[in-house]
Amino acid sequence: MNLESTVRKNIFNLKPYSCARDEFKGEASAYLDANENPFNKDYNRYPDPLQVELKKRISQIKKINPERIMLGNGSDEPIDLVFRIFCEPAKDNVVAIEPTYGMYNVCADINNVEYRKVFLNENFQMDAEQLLAAADKHTKVIFLCSPNNPSGNLLNNSEIQKIIERFPGIVVIDEAYIDFSDKPSWLADLDKYPNLIVLHTFSKAWGLASLRCGMAFASQEIIALFNKVKYPYNLSTLIQQTILKQLYVGGEYKDEWVKQILSEREYLADTLKSLSIVEKVYPSDANFLLVKVNDANALYKKLIEKGVVVRNRNSVSLCGNCLRVTVGAKEENDFLIDVLNDETSTLH
Ligand SMILES: *Cc1c(COP(=O)(O)O)cnc(C)c1O
Repeated sequence: MNLESTVRKNIFNLKPYSCARDEFKGEASAYLDANENPFNKDYNRYPDPLQVELKKRISQIKKINPERIMLGNGSDEPIDLVFRIFCEPAKDNVVAIEPTYGMYNVCADINNVEYRKVFLNENFQMDAEQLLAAADKHTKVIFLCSPNNPSGNLLNNSEIQKIIERFPGIVVIDEAYIDFSDKPSWLADLDKYPNLIVLHTFSKAWGLASLRCGMAFASQEIIALFNKVKYPYNLSTLIQQTILKQLYVGGEYKDEWVKQILSEREYLADTLKSLSIVEKVYPSDANFLLVKVNDANALYKKLIEKGVVVRNRNSVSLCGNCLRVTVGAKEENDFLIDVLNDETSTLH
């Protein structure tokens, strides 16, 4: 891949906004550079635009150089930035698996970039040849999501590898759910593949969805482009500090949480499979289950009436009559099962 010819010309040539905090680093006796208010000292200073302390800690956890990390307002920010950096509106296109996370299509539409869907097979696996065939000289990015949402499964590694090795543009692998799978992340292969962007998030396994922080990992050159285009102060100081604290204290809990969620996932899948209104529970490498039932719309409404909110995926490609159910706390899962049991008995 030639990065220069893959990036939009205006972005490649962009001279980024230089903020006061970019120019001076360290401890000063007087901060008179940023037109801040000297009072209200908990909140008066601009945040670190490059989140140096937080990236240091993430770098230890993920075993990756801080220069290869971009932090955003959720994963949504790097997803949007991928379009703004690589795709010329009304000219370039991207290719993605279908069904998958809805945000890639929404960001493509917002940026006026054609979004080409390539259907997964009935086991929600992809055929690399089909994705490569859907690409042309205006295809800048291929979006993959593994474990995939809403299907829950990991994509085949050999097919992913084919795409990374043969596609001459950018390959994004969204690994939001990787902590719930027993397979390694593609992070370890970043050195080998300069066209690879891996996305992780603090919203799922780390239990920090309210804080809005997602991570993009890529070559130093791609991360430099992200840094150039993102809002300078995209993560507030409060968020940076809170996440940093959580990455020290929460680290102990995270593995325990994942373990509990995985054991609940197994219990929930087995129990759901035994119900007559359930036709299929798809295998999951994530913290949710895709469940095929006899009438998803009717069951979704019934569950809402009983105060159980799941995601109705009935209208999503290949997901007819499917509900996506997050693996919750034991009480929540048991409550769902109780409601479903009542539902099953009234049907008979
Ligand atoms: C939940 C999810 C994310 C996380 O999004 P955030 O903006 O980081 O909360 C990313 N990708 C997929 C596929 C998801 O399901």
